[in-house]
Amino acid sequence: MKTKSPFNDESRWQAVLDRDQTADGQFVFAVQTTGIYCRPSCRARHALRQNVRFYVDADAAENAGFRACKRCQPDKADPQQQRTHKVAAACRLLEQERTLTLDELAREVGVSAYHFHRMFKSVTGMTPKAWQQAWRARRLRETLASSDSVTDAVLAAGFPASSSYYRKADSSLGMTAKQYRRGGDDLPVRFTLASCSLGRCLVAASSRGICAVLPGDNDETLLRELEQIFPHAQREKADQAFSQLVAEVIAVLDGKHSTVQLPLDIRGTAFQQQVWQALRDIPTGETRSYQQVAQSINKPKAVRAVASACAANKLALLIPCHRVVRQSGALSGYRWGEARKAQLLRRETKQEG
Ligand SMILES: [Zn+2]
Repeated sequence: MKTKSPFNDESRWQAVLDRDQTADGQFVFAVQTTGIYCRPSCRARHALRQNVRFYVDADAAENAGFRACKRCQPDKADPQQQRTHKVAAACRLLEQERTLTLDELAREVGVSAYHFHRMFKSVTGMTPKAWQQAWRARRLRETLASSDSVTDAVLAAGFPASSSYYRKADSSLGMTAKQYRRGGDDLPVRFTLASCSLGRCLVAASSRGICAVLPGDNDETLLRELEQIFPHAQREKADQAFSQLVAEVIAVLDGKHSTVQLPLDIRGTAFQQQVWQALRDIPTGETRSYQQVAQSINKPKAVRAVASACAANKLALLIPCHRVVRQSGALSGYRWGEARKAQLLRRETKQEG
């Protein structure tokens, strides 16, 4: 596997030579002899390496006295990023109760209906209609999980396959509860490996959204981890369209954004989902103890179960389980290593302070 870190000049230069679109937004390069700076993927002829300098973003290059290239317009918002934002906005609209037609949706986000359909599919991998249906099913499941006191008991017992809850759920979900519990495990999962400030990182998505974000040191270990999490899924290396989604995730891993706009495919028991939602409510720069999280979901005695739910998180940073520490303030474990947890918390307190 090719290891490519965007964090040294050699790999940045390689990205420029490759006109690597996935590097766009991660840095810009400036040419001293012309005074112009570009996106990594700029189609213009390449300058000599010795005249090229790298900057983290357009602002940094401008401050150093360079002008934006007219061709690749590195000072303008990334067109791919704009597409992602439009699609994310459409996703939010589709997740509401109200049914919208394709025309209405396209109008809301300001593109033609034809264009919108293609754009939506290239970013999410599914049609707007399929998206809406997936969300209806999810809402139904969430209501089932939170409104029924029978459910609580069943969940606490860990979903025994023989319970009457399942027979009830089967008819409402339109699939067997066993299928539901497997959470569509056999759905295809697309993934890619990239570099970020935490080292290497594997990002995976199903047709429902981002389903795994795994930081690590080595690609082989990451691939094994993915296989363990989705043993039944068809695992496919992702194509170019996926790069926007990956760039969004990397921005979070690198601390540039606090969250992604695209939906998450969160699979877990209702209890785990409750814990994970509570974790997403912890603001950047703050931490909570396992006890506090247990209290926040009105299950003050479930401290150990909260700890296990944190350990079962598959979406590093997007579900910020690193913000949960022992009551004493000690870090305690982290699925992706204590050193990484310490690094993240240091970075976040610095950003806030
Ligand atoms: Zn350019």
